[in-house]
Parts: sequence; C-alpha cells; structure tokens
Amino acid sequence: MSNAKFSLTYGDKGSFLDGPVPAELRIPLAGHETKTVKKKAVVGAGTLVADHKNAKTGNLHSGIPGTVADITADCVVVAALEAPAEGEAPAVPASPAPVNLASLQGEPLAAALKELGVDTRPLLKKCDTLIINGLNPEPGITFAETMLSAHKATLEAGLGVLRKLSPASKMVLACPEGAQTSLSGVTSAGVKAEYPNSLDELLIAKVSGSEKSSGYRVLPLHTLYNLGRVAETGLPLTEAVVSVQGVNYTVKIGTPVSVLLQHAGHQIADGDMVIVGGPMRGSATANLMLGIGKDTAGLFLIKQGTFAPVTNHQCISCGECVLNCPARIMPGLVSRYVEVRQYDHCTKEGIQHCMECGLCAYYCPARRPMLQIIRLGKHQIALKEAQVSACSLQGEEGVA
Ligand code: SF4
Ligand code: SF4
Repeated sequence: MSNAKFSLTYGDKGSFLDGPVPAELRIPLAGHETKTVKKKAVVGAGTLVADHKNAKTGNLHSGIPGTVADITADCVVVAALEAPAEGEAPAVPASPAPVNLASLQGEPLAAALKELGVDTRPLLKKCDTLIINGLNPEPGITFAETMLSAHKATLEAGLGVLRKLSPASKMVLACPEGAQTSLSGVTSAGVKAEYPNSLDELLIAKVSGSEKSSGYRVLPLHTLYNLGRVAETGLPLTEAVVSVQGVNYTVKIGTPVSVLLQHAGHQIADGDMVIVGGPMRGSATANLMLGIGKDTAGLFLIKQGTFAPVTNHQCISCGECVLNCPARIMPGLVSRYVEVRQYDHCTKEGIQHCMECGLCAYYCPARRPMLQIIRLGKHQIALKEAQVSACSLQGEEGVA
C-alpha cells in the first residue's frame, strides 16, 4: 500500500473556463467586519461589503450588482438584481474607478492592495529568498501549468507589484523538473512534481538543498495570480480560479459550491461528499450553499461508495502512517495522544512538525480521520498556550 506516487503535473489545460453567473453570492466573512453594508443595501460589482481590522488582510467586495439579502455570522449574501426593464436605467452604484497601482510604492501600495481585496501578509513576510510555488498544490488541482503558460502575463503583472513590496533579495520559481517555464527576472528551480513536494517545508528543502535552511518563504502561485488580476485591472478582487474535479474555472467569490458543481456538470446525490480545497488537505462540507473564498483552490465531489467512510475507528498499530509521514513523526501515536488529551505527549512526539499533508489519513487502513485529529490536537495546544501566556501577563500586571 505504501509508496504510491501522486503526480502534480497535468500539462497546460488551456484558458480557464468561465464560472456560473450566480443568482446569489454568499461571500465568506472569515473574520471580516460587516459594518460596510447593511441589509437591503444595493451594491454594484466591486462595492465593498466587508472590511478587516487587520491592515494586511484584504477587504471583501461583491462580484455582482445586487441587493444585500442577508448578513449572517459567516457570510454576506448578495442577491443578483434583475435586469432593468427596457428603457429603465439600472439602479445600482457605479463600479469603482480603477486604482493606478503603478504609481504607488511601499505603505500606500500595501494599503491600496488591502482596499482592493488582496491579503498582503504573504507578500510582506520577511525573507531572503521568496520561492514562488509553481507546482499544483495537491493531486487533482490542475491550474498551475496553465497559469504559467496561458496566463503568464497576469503572473508577470503580479510579479511587478510583488517586487515593490517583498523584502526578499532573491526570487525563485519552483516548477516541475524538466518544464520549460520561467518568469522574468526569476531563477527557475526544477522540483520533482510529486505530492507532497508542493508543501512549503518540503519545497524549501528541495530548492535550498537543506532541511535546515532559514531565510526562505513560499508564495503560492494562486496568490501571485490574484495579485496579478488586481494589478492588471486596478479593480477589487472578486474572482478566484478554482479547479473543479480537475477542470479550471474563474469563479465569482461567494458562488455557492452546489452552483459551481452543477455548472461544471456534476450532480450531487445523497451520500456524496463535497470537498472544498484539495483531496488531501481540504475539508468536507455538508453546507452546499457555502461560498467559494478567495483562496479556494479546488472543489471535489466524491461519489458515495468511492472510498470506505472515514470514522473514529481505533488505531490498529499497523505503522502505515509512520512509513508515509514526510515529517518523520509517528502519526498513529500522536493521534492517540490527542484522543486521550495528552497534549504534552503530543508535543514531545513532534505534533508541531506535522505539515498537514494528509498522507497518514490516505494510507490508514482503519480509515481514521488522522488529519482532523492532528489539527484538533494542534488547536488545543495553541489554546492552552494562549491561556498560559494570558495568565502570565495578568501575573506580571498584578506584580507591577
Ligand atoms: S498529516 Fe500525517 S503524514 Fe502528513 S505530516 Fe502530518 S502526521 Fe505526517
Ligand atoms: S493510525 Fe492508521 S495507519 Fe497509523 S498505525 Fe494506526 S491504523 Fe495504522
């Protein structure tokens, strides 16, 4: 069962297809404030619908003209406006004027990008070498080679802005070994295009030649492409490229997953599973009205009966997960410590080295939800550490 190879190359699949024209967007809030629009407000394409208090987190905008039908804890719902009757002027706010990013530098540029919906954190991170990850992030996600060929101009536009912001003195494009791929002024480095080499930790090790290198950061190609779209148009980011069962679409942010799957010709039946993200690291969702987010790279429909269901079976200590873990930890043991809440033991066994590749779950013959268990363990440890640090701060304040 071990040593399956997960290829990450699919060739240039041609230009991205147009996604659906949704009757309703459900724009995921993901921590954004909702003060910028009120229920029943009429919005245009590109109208700000939610901002974020973090100065580096991009704001959210509507991708269609419509009415704010609802604002929930998770999303802003925009219902598309019906086309005006003949001779009637559409009663929607005008789309925003394009921002001339070429004239901006430094902080004003970063602030303008935030306003336009770009998350600038990955662009501004301190590093000596920035690796642009030109591999597809997971098996089944197929847009990378197309971005690097048919949409290269967009990546170059993003690169122009990235150069003005990134503190990196060197940029490297990590691409499949043997691929004739390049970006202007960026060194190319061939990497074996097999999962999990697309993960940041492994990509850095492959490009630098060392598992202990410092000063490297990785930028996903998807992020550079989004930046490029904003740089080309000067308009807010309202679309994402999503690989739907291996076919790539340009999709309005907030398009419900069921609408996108249907548009792509996939019918969801009882017992099927919808995965948002990649097949290895993504999350199953029962909410078919969940909106596509800016960073959603993939959408998959797993038909009932394709795989044995994942359930909380006991570990049978077969060792398959250990044989396949790229972090060289013992996932079975760590997962059992999480289950009995022995978080100190999890830490001793290296849970923080887990790259969340999902291979342990893939190989586990007991079909344990390994990735979810390990993520839960990390979350619990982070909560515990936050509590300890809050208590220490209170203690210090008390002493003062
Ligand atoms: S997800 Fe599993 S296999 Fe992957 S690094 Fe973490 S523990 Fe190892
Ligand atoms: S977690 Fe699964 S793969 Fe790992 S040892 Fe246990 S049964 Fe085997």
